[in-house]
Amino acid sequence: MAEIGGAAIRELAKTYGTPLYVYDESTMDSILSAYRDNFVSDQFETGVLYASKAFSCKAMVRLIDSYGLYLDVVSGGELYTAVQAGYDPGKIFFHGNNKTEAELRCALEQGVGTVIVDNQSEARLLVNLIQETAGSVHTLLRVNPGIEAHTHKYIVTAHVDSKFGISLLNEDEIVETIRILEAQDGITFDGIHSHIGSQIFDRQAFAEEIRKLFTFAEHMKETYEIGIHTVNLGGGFAVRYTAADAPIPIDEVSRFIIEECERENRNHHGLIQRVLIEPGRSIVGEAGVTIYSVGSIKKTPNRRYAFVDGGMSDNIRPALYQAEYDAFVDGKEEGASLDYTIAGKCCESGDILIQSIPLPEMEPGDLLVLKTTGAYGYSMASHYNKLPLPAVVFVKNGTARVVIRRETYEHMISLED
Ligand SMILES: *Cc1c(COP(=O)(O)O)cnc(C)c1O
Repeated sequence: MAEIGGAAIRELAKTYGTPLYVYDESTMDSILSAYRDNFVSDQFETGVLYASKAFSCKAMVRLIDSYGLYLDVVSGGELYTAVQAGYDPGKIFFHGNNKTEAELRCALEQGVGTVIVDNQSEARLLVNLIQETAGSVHTLLRVNPGIEAHTHKYIVTAHVDSKFGISLLNEDEIVETIRILEAQDGITFDGIHSHIGSQIFDRQAFAEEIRKLFTFAEHMKETYEIGIHTVNLGGGFAVRYTAADAPIPIDEVSRFIIEECERENRNHHGLIQRVLIEPGRSIVGEAGVTIYSVGSIKKTPNRRYAFVDGGMSDNIRPALYQAEYDAFVDGKEEGASLDYTIAGKCCESGDILIQSIPLPEMEPGDLLVLKTTGAYGYSMASHYNKLPLPAVVFVKNGTARVVIRRETYEHMISLED
């Protein structure tokens, strides 16, 4: 019988039902300590921001807080969750390519520390709101360095048409936008941000990003006397979904980024005073699994299906971008001999969690555990087919606690007339 965080999978399923998201807190503890202890420098200030879109709930925010990490939010809802969890708004960074006026107003009222400005029209909107509220806020400007990194490759000068940030090729617009921010009392312009992709395995992609941003910072100073003191490098650190993935360990990638930044900073006269990163997936991904109950088994001419009691409603990633997962059957960890397709219960042919995986023979009632579902699982879940959202439990040293209760049918219709 397999365990997660010292708790038996069968007991978890029996107590809390399935589908069930389970997080091993000690896995998150060791990753959070690795970031906290290795992403440090004696040449500049450092900060690790948890990108809460990967998995946001009050318990998660409190865990992040207990490690002294900063927090990224990308919407009024994530901001509200953080504030309700008692997190200091001054340590929040507010992202997004189209923050609404109401969201920005709320951020200013709550005392959000930093707004990461995406574009010039947002800069103008922020100026208007600051004038109206007489508030104050720090800002970073999101730029697009023309590096696109996904999985095993990265491409330079690709993707100049991204919806996020202002391309470094549009220098005039960047300068104008910074001038708009700098000119306003109550707004402090700290520097620039970029995020080059997700599930990045290649450390050279980060090295390339660092070179581009530090060179750009010096160019801004030399040519326009614009002071860029903070560089935020974004997130995107890879996790292991299947045996084919070999992510760089967190302590190593943290130190690599620090060393690259220290070298670049020496090359650029110590211009940069603070370096930030924003990991999301790598903090929660591998800590989480989803337990499903197996229902029907069906053979078609070319496939052997095992149907589970969730699917694209609790994990859209395979259907959305062909994400791959590994899985095991509780109590049958050995002897994988049959090729299965794991399909969900939603009314879409594309509702397939794993296209092909060797597993031992399954029967109805078995518990199938999908691994590495801690990031972008619950946070991307939907009510398709009116399936209630599953519960989420955190497990530590054999003890489980519910951090998000399972939805009921009553919850689902509670807003309906
Ligand atoms: C999504 C995102 C992150 C986190 O990415 P991960 O791949 O989860 O590490 C960080 N910063 C920004 C701006 C993002 O959009």
